[in-house]
Amino acid sequence: MRFEVLCGGVLVLGAACATTTAPATSAAAVTEVPAPSFDRTKPLPAGLDEAAFNWTANPCEDFYEFACGGWMAKTEIPADRPLYSRGFVSIADRNELALKGILEEAAAGKLPADAAFAKQLGDSYATCTDDAQLETALERVKAFAAPLVAPTSPEELAKNVGVLHASGLTAFFTLTAWQDLKDASQVIGGIDQGGLGLPDRDYYVDADKKPIREAYQAYVASQLGLWGQGKDAAAQDAALVLELETQLAQASQTRVERRDPTKLYNRLERSGLKEKAGAFGWDAYLTALGAPALQTINVTNVKFVEAVAAIAKQGKPAAWKAYLTWTVLRMAVPGLPKAFQDAAFAFNAKHFTGATQDRPRWKKCVAFVDSDLGEALGREFARRYFPADSKARTSAMIEALQGSVERNLKTLPWLDEPTRAAALAKASRMVANNKIGYPAVWRDYGSVQTTRSSYFENMVAAARFEVRRQLLKIGKPVDRGEWLMSAPTVNAYYDPQKNEIVFPAGILQPPFFDKDATDAVNFGSMGMVVGHEITHGFDDEGRQFDVDGNLKDWWSEPVGKAFVGKATCVKQQFDGYTAVDDVKLKGDLTLGENIADLGGLKHAHQALDTWYADPKKAAEASAQRFTPSQQFFLGFAQSWCTKVRPEQAKLRAATDPHASPYWRVNGPVGNLEAFRKAFGCGERSKMVRTGAQQCVVF
Ligand SMILES: [Zn+2]
Repeated sequence: MRFEVLCGGVLVLGAACATTTAPATSAAAVTEVPAPSFDRTKPLPAGLDEAAFNWTANPCEDFYEFACGGWMAKTEIPADRPLYSRGFVSIADRNELALKGILEEAAAGKLPADAAFAKQLGDSYATCTDDAQLETALERVKAFAAPLVAPTSPEELAKNVGVLHASGLTAFFTLTAWQDLKDASQVIGGIDQGGLGLPDRDYYVDADKKPIREAYQAYVASQLGLWGQGKDAAAQDAALVLELETQLAQASQTRVERRDPTKLYNRLERSGLKEKAGAFGWDAYLTALGAPALQTINVTNVKFVEAVAAIAKQGKPAAWKAYLTWTVLRMAVPGLPKAFQDAAFAFNAKHFTGATQDRPRWKKCVAFVDSDLGEALGREFARRYFPADSKARTSAMIEALQGSVERNLKTLPWLDEPTRAAALAKASRMVANNKIGYPAVWRDYGSVQTTRSSYFENMVAAARFEVRRQLLKIGKPVDRGEWLMSAPTVNAYYDPQKNEIVFPAGILQPPFFDKDATDAVNFGSMGMVVGHEITHGFDDEGRQFDVDGNLKDWWSEPVGKAFVGKATCVKQQFDGYTAVDDVKLKGDLTLGENIADLGGLKHAHQALDTWYADPKKAAEASAQRFTPSQQFFLGFAQSWCTKVRPEQAKLRAATDPHASPYWRVNGPVGNLEAFRKAFGCGERSKMVRTGAQQCVVF
């Protein structure tokens, strides 16, 4: 458990609204007041999108449709995308072009003389986009794999896994630096479950996922065939891979289990690890990894390392070989010939993305370099594309949000005084710990040895650097300046272990943050994001961490119980919503994000009220087609207009801790008194929840 984000990555948002249904309360709902009307001769507030509206929809019946219906009707998802959105993805597309420009300059040796790590950036991008070089890569990758994938004893298995891990090829599990959950000042080693080729353990164990498992086995066999195995051998090995990965999946925690940090804290240390899972040669593993002296180790899932030990003890070299070969192949696909890429695309498109065309190579390469050398690329991006006044404007917005969060905490009736004081201290520290734009100290990639001859080798060089960087952190105090996202990332996060909120340069752009928009619109889009991240500090997961970032219960017992009651209301409400077809949202998986959305929206709206108490500030929002409050909610909704392919929507419903975009809009606003007032909705409107149906946590 590291951090909670606003959105799990730009490529992986929520589900389609075309296939969603109305709130659970809708069956008996009757509109008791006429639909609100708007004078369309008046100017549209800056920052809202005229063409995104569906003017025939009633905002009190389906707010998302009113704000986004026009956009949904006219937008086609690009062929190479699993989804498209007015906010995240359109910004990501812009950033992608900017990054492409930087990387093309780097590859041509034309970056400014003072640009950092120009060689690493240029080599990585040039080799990644060099199709001819990729076509010759197979023998090189096989030569790399050959001495590592065929261990004959448990000891050799452990040693080889250590060597693979040192190159970033994470067979079975991962070992990285972990901030100690119960001592926020210290970094220890952390072993976590992993090693699966499908997106979640559920795909291996759920009865209804059997067709995907079968398709996966066939896909593994086809890739092993391209690797050079005969048809029968490839089929046999694919069966062994599925069997071994299923063993790992059966021991894996579910995503819902992993939302409880107490379940992830097992300080076994090296001695306990050897006691519990001694059949795997941990000493040989750690030596080969390059961490021979490591003693302080947390194991997130003890059952999982026991399963790894059982696989070692079973002593099946044929299964190990099949699995390790597959793991190297699977992770090396970006550096392998086009035939491998095509097979991977076909499998993923059919089952998870729905895309009809693979991403152009340059787009993949931009993403790979961002992932491998993020702070080298981000440094040049921030220098070129992060306007000097963005930081000040974002700071002002954070300050406004802090004010409303604190006012709210001071008056929230279900808190007692000790819990209230602790919550206020936590909020105040969190806001003081904000990070905006890009890191103060950039990562030094000087030791990454890249070449112009092999993208696979450049991938491995970057991975080796990252593994070393992680291992070197262990045993040292926590580096509070470190960022968990690169600067161009269109996202934001709250890190409960550092008790900090972080907003990369990538998201501080229109439509999330638009310098020409009214403040009302910006408070609805970016202000809500700020409020969302702050509220994460108090969701069902974040609330378990104290002001310093330690996993420690600071809630009095009755207040803790009151929280659980309020959270249960949110869980049950979202359990009732349909993500796509007959697939429902998971109220427990999405609970933290839904609490953050609810709180973020409420706090941002209150912050706007205070902001516009100053008539000079409020003047911009008057004499417009919408009131300031309406502008706020529309700015919010229009930053979330999103269209998703059904395959992707199903994947998201199973794995994404965020609700689908449709419900991220209609879910929270339906609980807010301020929304009802803004649009004058009747109490029995579809969008309005009252009494026990209305969930309010913060
Ligand atoms: Zn979030």
